[in-house]
Amino acid sequence: MARLKICAGNWKMNNSIIEAINYFVDFERKKIGHKNSTVARVIFPQAFCLGYDVQAAAKKCGFKLGAQNCHTEEKGAFTGELSAKSLKEIEISWTLIGHSERRQFFGETVTSAVKRAHRAILSDLNVVFCVGESLSERESSKTESVLEEQLAPLWPVLKECEKNLTGKNLVFSIAYEPVWAIGTGKTATPEQAESAHVFIRGLIEKNWSATWAEGTSILYGGSVTPENSFSLCSKPNIDGVLVGGASLKPDSFSQILASLLEKR
Ligand code: PEP
Repeated sequence: MARLKICAGNWKMNNSIIEAINYFVDFERKKIGHKNSTVARVIFPQAFCLGYDVQAAAKKCGFKLGAQNCHTEEKGAFTGELSAKSLKEIEISWTLIGHSERRQFFGETVTSAVKRAHRAILSDLNVVFCVGESLSERESSKTESVLEEQLAPLWPVLKECEKNLTGKNLVFSIAYEPVWAIGTGKTATPEQAESAHVFIRGLIEKNWSATWAEGTSILYGGSVTPENSFSLCSKPNIDGVLVGGASLKPDSFSQILASLLEKR
């Protein structure tokens, strides 16, 4: 099964509505692989930018928009949260779940991230599910056990939702984002990233199925730049990238996209 390549940008709390529209106008002028649909292009902007005006500008250069989060419940007394049902209503098709900044600053846990992913799948949203170890965990050789722990509650949910994924042709992808590499300028080497991706693929096979292990896209995130994206994307188990800082400017993000368009 050929895996979908994914070029995703996480804008965090940057780029306003007007800046977002200008971004996509600028991107369109670059004509980066306009006819190539083998790479899914996704931007996760702040929630204000998910409306139809920014969606229309994004569509002209082949981008879909995604929410940076979605709540576990369809509706209710959850002030400040985003509902998956409303995201679908405004035709948003992707969501980012369990980003380390959500875990670090907003108290999200492994359990709540999995519940959010579950709701997203039941609401027909494509998911990028983030995992990754801290610096101290890497330095004490705990990377693999941390990844195992962060993914463990996901397997029963994915088995239960398999029919939703296949029936609706949804994408469930995993982003390996070592926390020590996010926004720090320290990138995992292609070998470090590839080894974590191989480990995650092995977990999918062991805990879910060989078919899904083969078919699930695993993205790398953590200080990806135009300078390092080609070597990262050349690794066989790196199916895409999740980019923060370097996705904010069309110049740098279009070069990163080019490295995925060239990937075999
Ligand atoms: C991110 O926010 O997911 C990220 C990887 O950020 P950066 O590329 O800036 O490290």
